[in-house]
Amino acid sequence: MINSHFKDWIKLTTIITNNNTKRHEIECPNCQKRGIDYQYVGDMKSRVGFLDIWCDVCLHGIHLSRTKAPEHVSMIPFDAAKEYKERVPRFTHIEPS
Ligand SMILES: [Zn+2]
Repeated sequence: MINSHFKDWIKLTTIITNNNTKRHEIECPNCQKRGIDYQYVGDMKSRVGFLDIWCDVCLHGIHLSRTKAPEHVSMIPFDAAKEYKERVPRFTHIEPS
């Protein structure tokens, strides 16, 4: 069984990849504040990697592996550990179950 919170976070990926909604307008499924941010990390050529989505307010979020980044979003290469650390805060990962 998938918990409803996790499903709400998954819905955010659709909003992000559609690029129609500004991320500042997205409500956090956990605290209902508007503090959602995200970052793709992966292979710059194939654009396959993982996606982190988190809330800057309550520091909850999800980590999705094996995902493909759309062309319009920014991506950090796998080997840029420093850049990733500066960009993505430590947040509590919400699990599917
Ligand atoms: Zn939040």
